[in-house]
Amino acid sequence: MTPIPLVDLAVQHRQVADEVAAGWAEVLATTAFVGGPAVSAFEAEFAAYVGAKHCIGVGNGTDALELALRAAGVGAGDECVLPANTFIATAEAVVRAGARPVLVDCDEDTGLLDVDAISGVLTDRTAAILPVHLYGQPAPVERILPLARAIGAVVVEDAAQAQGARRHGAGAGTLGDLAGTSFYPGKNLGAYGDGGAVLTGDAELAEQVRLLSAHGSPRKYEHEIVGFNSRLDTLQAVVLSAKLKRLEGWNEARRAAAARYDDLLAGLPQVTTPVVLPGNEPVWHLYVVRVPDRDRVLAHLRDHGIGAGVHYPTPVHRTEAFAWLGYAEGDFPVAEKVGGELLSLPLYAEITPEQQERVVGTLAEALR
Ligand SMILES: *Cc1c(COP(=O)(O)O)cnc(C)c1O
Repeated sequence: MTPIPLVDLAVQHRQVADEVAAGWAEVLATTAFVGGPAVSAFEAEFAAYVGAKHCIGVGNGTDALELALRAAGVGAGDECVLPANTFIATAEAVVRAGARPVLVDCDEDTGLLDVDAISGVLTDRTAAILPVHLYGQPAPVERILPLARAIGAVVVEDAAQAQGARRHGAGAGTLGDLAGTSFYPGKNLGAYGDGGAVLTGDAELAEQVRLLSAHGSPRKYEHEIVGFNSRLDTLQAVVLSAKLKRLEGWNEARRAAAARYDDLLAGLPQVTTPVVLPGNEPVWHLYVVRVPDRDRVLAHLRDHGIGAGVHYPTPVHRTEAFAWLGYAEGDFPVAEKVGGELLSLPLYAEITPEQQERVVGTLAEALR
């Protein structure tokens, strides 16, 4: 039996291979490896696609979040609110900006941060709230903005998993003050290496991000502030432009595949299928179900060639890296409970109905 991977990057590459090869040949011929027209073109295309005024390409998604926070003036002594159940990078970006992560629990049905828990952790040091558009569906940012506005904090969206997702018609990445996104290869819009971008509607914040990302330098050898080197590679911009043209179609195919899983799994009462928040148009970066006895089920799937995964097994406060935050087991009971039940099923634009039937058939076997 051919294995079914969690994501299939090879099948996606075949669709853009010629275009990427031609674009790369041009970059190689001109030896313009950093910056140049390919990067500005992609930034403009991605901004237009998402509906953001400004897009600044950076080195990766973690840098994008850090630079977004720094551009907004977040730093030492500040606190930033984020969900306990996210990829570790959200918390890392806060620490790297010099601030302290303050965690909140998540909603059991959607996995999105629990907005009702936010007011309880706000202090006079809260400088930012970072909703994570987990698994590809936007968090209800419109409920978070008024909380942030009331205390002068900014909302920085972690849109790494949500390229093309919409909430009430607006693109993920345009819902808050700034957003960071990632073009890590496995993301819905993935480069052939690392990449990321900051999105914002505010020209001054955009300018600040650009300065920070390029040695604090508006013009060569003029340095206004101490910055970083975090730029989107020109070769990656070529890949991303080629893929962006197809992203809407790929996201549509992911939605169809997610709907097919919903149907196939309706016959398995032990499996809790994902819940979409009303108003959301998700892009299914991951299709995450909850099952009893998860580790045994996961092992069974893997033994049978199904590339299932867990996103994420350990909430931020239970990782070794963030033990110093001083949280205890039981502090975020929902994140801890679902962490033991989550199971990501293989999902990508090109997955076939037959492959999905095999995934669900094997899952049913494991649950028997
Ligand atoms: C991938 C990801 C990031 C970080 O992106 P990198 O490009 O790997 O640095 C941040 N947050 C979330 C939720 C992610 O999934």
